[in-house]
Amino acid sequence: MRLQVPVRTTGFRIARILGIPIYLDASWLLIFGLITYSLAMAFRELHPQWTPTEHWTVGILTSILFFSSVLFHELSHSVVALHYKIPVHSITLFIFGGIARIGREPSGPLQEFNIAIAGPLASFFLAGMFAVVALVFASDQMVGALAGYLAWTNLILGAFNLAPGFPLDGGRIFRAIIWGITKNFSRATLIAGASGRLVAYTMMAIGAYKAYHDKEWTSGLWLGVIGLYLLNAAQESIAQVTIRETLAGLRAADVMNQEVPTVGGHITLEEYGAEVLRTGRRCHLVMSDDRLVGMMNVHTLNSVPREEWAHNSVQSAMIPREKILWTTPDESLLTLLERLLSADVNQMPVVSGTGNDAPQIVGMITRDSILRVMRTRTELGPRGASK
Ligand SMILES: [Zn+2]
Repeated sequence: MRLQVPVRTTGFRIARILGIPIYLDASWLLIFGLITYSLAMAFRELHPQWTPTEHWTVGILTSILFFSSVLFHELSHSVVALHYKIPVHSITLFIFGGIARIGREPSGPLQEFNIAIAGPLASFFLAGMFAVVALVFASDQMVGALAGYLAWTNLILGAFNLAPGFPLDGGRIFRAIIWGITKNFSRATLIAGASGRLVAYTMMAIGAYKAYHDKEWTSGLWLGVIGLYLLNAAQESIAQVTIRETLAGLRAADVMNQEVPTVGGHITLEEYGAEVLRTGRRCHLVMSDDRLVGMMNVHTLNSVPREEWAHNSVQSAMIPREKILWTTPDESLLTLLERLLSADVNQMPVVSGTGNDAPQIVGMITRDSILRVMRTRTELGPRGASK
């Protein structure tokens, strides 16, 4: 699997391969423990003549080789990406497998296709290798058991990843094909994302069937959880494309509200609440002696208990000036929205002329105003948005 998201990498770094840092997420420890345990138990059942040490040794070795196979799969994607000069930030093993984080989207459908297909091909290659090992060492029970299991799981890993739902490899291959035919990246992503949702729902349905009908609770639940994870990832990739599309080319100055309401710092929260109710404005700059001292909004007001509103001033509750996040008229709406979301704030004052003279507040930008322009643009269709 492969994600193209600029998220922080978490987990322990265990190695560096081809210049790519390899991480183990904390959730990986859980799945590693579970798989090792169930392998040891399965070997005990299948080969009761082995000693407990042998059950566990083969179990641990098989488990390690399984996750090495997952890593090999991700590395294959990465090698092809690097070949196209696309940076690979990291590879992380986590509870649902592996993720290679790449720096940007491929610049053409052929690149996308080749990067995506490399993973399943690598898994099929490993399946073949382990099958050969299992045949050659057929007389050795332990090597045979280990290689046989890895041949199967790599085969399943490759086949599962070929399911045509974004962001699985099959979904990316599917997107590359539509992209190649339509020459339209966004439309291809939306279609592949929709098929991703379909694959996710199908997996959840199979999971539910397994659980209720076949009474295979563990595998049913597991399929359901993976389906949920894929559904979320598919929706996120659709949302990302939609946002990028609709906000392309827009800057803070385009959607900011030029009206910047102010209130005096000395008024009580009670009076501020009344002002908010009267005007419907949810955010104000707080002035004291004609100087800007802070920012006040409904969210901050609500964080003060109602009974304290009468004897507390706005100045005592507001966001102080030095804690306010600012934007400039030129900032692109896409990065601005990302900043608003990551700082979990609803509005930012727009400041111009930071260069020479005293900075001037020229407007106010809110999450709502950005969402409104997105909605409007979506209604009017992609006309005007680039790409
Ligand atoms: Zn993959």
